[in-house]
Amino acid sequence: MAGKNIKVLLVEDNPGDVFLLQELLKEVSTVVVELMPVERLAEALNYLAKEVFDVILLDLSLPDSQGLETFVMAHLQAKATPIIVLTGIDDETLATRAMQQGAQDYLVKGQVTGDLLVRSMRYAIERQRADDALRHSEERFRVALKNSPIFVYNQDQELRYTWVYNPPSRVTVEEILGKQDLDIMPVEDAQHLIKIKRGVLTTGIGTREEVSITIKDITRYYDLTIEPLRNEAQEVVGVTCASIDISERQAALRDQQAALRDRKLAEEKIREQAALLDVTTDAICVRDLNNQIIFWNKGAETLYGWQATEAWGKNASELLYDEPSPEIEAALLQTLSKSKWQGELTKLSKMGKEILVASRWSLVCDEQGKPKSILTVDTDITDKKHLEAQLFRAQRLESIGTLASGIAHDLNNILTPILAGAQLLPLKFPDADERTRHLLEILEINARRGADLVKQVLSFARGVEGKRITLQLKHLIMEVAKILKETFPKSIEISTDVPQDLWMVSGDSTQLHQVLMNLCVNARDAMANGGNLSISAENLLIDENYARMNLEAKEGPYTVITVSDTGVGIPREILDRIFEPFFTTKDVGQGTGLGLSTVLGIIKSHGGFVNVYSEPGSGTSFKVYLPAVEGMETLSPENLPPQTGHGELILVVDDEVAIQEITKTSLETHNYKTLIASDGIEAIALYAKNRDKISVVLMDMMLPSLDGLTAIRTLQKINPQVRIIASSGLMSDNKLSAAAAIGINTFLSKPYTVNELLLSLQKVLS
Ligand code: ADP
Ligand code: MG
Repeated sequence: MAGKNIKVLLVEDNPGDVFLLQELLKEVSTVVVELMPVERLAEALNYLAKEVFDVILLDLSLPDSQGLETFVMAHLQAKATPIIVLTGIDDETLATRAMQQGAQDYLVKGQVTGDLLVRSMRYAIERQRADDALRHSEERFRVALKNSPIFVYNQDQELRYTWVYNPPSRVTVEEILGKQDLDIMPVEDAQHLIKIKRGVLTTGIGTREEVSITIKDITRYYDLTIEPLRNEAQEVVGVTCASIDISERQAALRDQQAALRDRKLAEEKIREQAALLDVTTDAICVRDLNNQIIFWNKGAETLYGWQATEAWGKNASELLYDEPSPEIEAALLQTLSKSKWQGELTKLSKMGKEILVASRWSLVCDEQGKPKSILTVDTDITDKKHLEAQLFRAQRLESIGTLASGIAHDLNNILTPILAGAQLLPLKFPDADERTRHLLEILEINARRGADLVKQVLSFARGVEGKRITLQLKHLIMEVAKILKETFPKSIEISTDVPQDLWMVSGDSTQLHQVLMNLCVNARDAMANGGNLSISAENLLIDENYARMNLEAKEGPYTVITVSDTGVGIPREILDRIFEPFFTTKDVGQGTGLGLSTVLGIIKSHGGFVNVYSEPGSGTSFKVYLPAVEGMETLSPENLPPQTGHGELILVVDDEVAIQEITKTSLETHNYKTLIASDGIEAIALYAKNRDKISVVLMDMMLPSLDGLTAIRTLQKINPQVRIIASSGLMSDNKLSAAAAIGINTFLSKPYTVNELLLSLQKVLS
């Protein structure tokens, strides 16, 4: 500004003061001051409207205006021109107030020099310029804020609004000032804001967030900048926030994104559903109305064996069925008319395996309601059906068993007197002719046969109480194979395959022997023209899964014996019935139909089960599963303590010479001595003579002349401690309980094996 003229409007009604100022300014050499003196305010305002001055020197007491009002009026008109107030000594208070209203300085008349005056003026001009610049930018900011959606505010440490600028149009400054967020917006919005702001208060680090705030039921989105507010000591005393309304931008962006996103969501949804469809084990297939497969999930791949890539575009019927069936035709018609069908179907897998499924079909329509495709959901119920069939079979066998046992019981009572009669009659008529004796013989033989049959039925129905010893089946199998080789036609080739480490089972060897024999005889009957019969055995650990599939199986170790033939096989229709007692396909006299029911009865009483696999024309395999005593300290028959005697004398009482002889030989081979009696009277006589030497009496209960029971009673009279084994071909309940009533509890049912005989002897001797 040096070197430049200063143009001054001097508003002063006192001519003395005007003169004085003019004189002072003349002394100033650094700058030329142009002074325009006026006496009245009105004159000054006039000049200000027309001309621009650098500074105004203003006396507040003028002829047309007094005091502060003079300044306000001049300031209004002067706009950006700085005003220096001129006062008397007595009026400094008034000057100070003018300063508060915007005066740049004040000078006390009579106390100034020219230099001081100029310096004050220069300073005023500079200050005014700076103020202007500031105001200008502030104004620009204000204008900018007014037109922008920026809401600026400060909050103190309690997050009370202490300063508010340009609040959203629906709230006034008054509604916000002094309040907290919780007072002006919903709790959730407020809590979110408070959390962010508290964060800034505690960390002293500003942040920027996008928030949604609902005020007076209108929700808007804001880009919110929060900075800490600090005092001079740099302590955080609150927050200062700028919040820009971005709802429009957000909405536009949202619309745009939504259209994007909608497609993405749809795609994702489809993918999600497809994944879900893949998780299910159900086979899900969609085919169009031409029966062409258009969707094929993982479940379908697993169940039917066809990969999706193989199934797509294929004709569903051709892929899954042997031949078109009226059943499927009907299902299709119902789906088209009623839009739903459900039922059980047998389908074919890629491997040609038949799979029974519960199938649900539903018609899928397009938006116009026009049928478009058929959705099929198939659940594999093959196993379920299988279990169901097992259960039915078990129940049927049980009821047949109950029935049979009832009949058998009655038959037993009928047969007993017939048999007794058949045995008594020849004694009553010793002179009967040859023909009559022969008839009686036939009567007895057949009565016995009947009784044996009854015994079998009873053993099937009630299960058979047998002895339980730990056995190595390998020996049993070898023994049976040996018998078969000797007795079966040479056209049948017999082979065995048994591992050395076969697990032991706990069982009755006589009964298991019978099981194997029954199965092998059936195999022989199935191979009238010869073939292969194989007996094999293996160890099998049945797991939880297997146990679930088979009602009778339990988790654990099993020993499995398989008897296979290459015979005629068993037709599917009768497979379910072969275990029923009296079910036979053989001619009268050839089969009783009791073989397999006896097998089942025995195996069940051993805690095992039987499976059969058969292919008509190719052959049949029966698998016998027996729980194994794995890991236990087991004794194989060879390791059993020798069951031989120590020279004990046994009195054998039997009317049949053949039995007398075989028993005598067996006992003597096993280190026993024997005495033989043919009837009760002879037995009593021999016992009376040798009572101290005889260790055990083996007594047939069916004796001529004196029946077993009477003979036993007599022996007990001779020696109350007499040891007796009762044996009989027919163990009726009556006989058993009668024998038990007189203290006999060791029985041998005929026919018995040598082993059984030795075991019984051991039992009574110990
Ligand atoms: P039976 O042998 O007296 O007929 P089973 O109970 O032993 O009585 O057998 C019942 C039926 O099961 C037989 O009549 C036969 O039809 C069928 N069967 C059993 N085993 C076989 C086999 N290995 N091969 C073919 N059919 C068999
Ligand atoms: Mg048979």
